[in-house]
Amino acid sequence: MATPLRSCVACRKKETPLGLLRLALVRRGEELIVCPDPNRRISSRGAWVCPKDDCIHKLSNKGVLARAFRQNVKMEPGLMTFFKGFIQREDS
Ligand SMILES: [Zn+2]
Repeated sequence: MATPLRSCVACRKKETPLGLLRLALVRRGEELIVCPDPNRRISSRGAWVCPKDDCIHKLSNKGVLARAFRQNVKMEPGLMTFFKGFIQREDS
């Protein structure tokens, strides 16, 4: 059985979910916040990004996350820093 592939929201490359970091869309009051979900535990709409500096950096571009979730969303302030920790961990 083939593993379903997911696309990175930044570079659009298709990967298995194990090779990607998950972003989850969480409602907080009136706002929709994109949070990191590295353990894939949050059951909500999700998107995926490569554990690469380039791709994580592109998440800050206006429009990338809005396009991924097809609505206006905000990014959790610590999200990029958090994901960058995953890159370093893979390098060491
Ligand atoms: Zn990517």
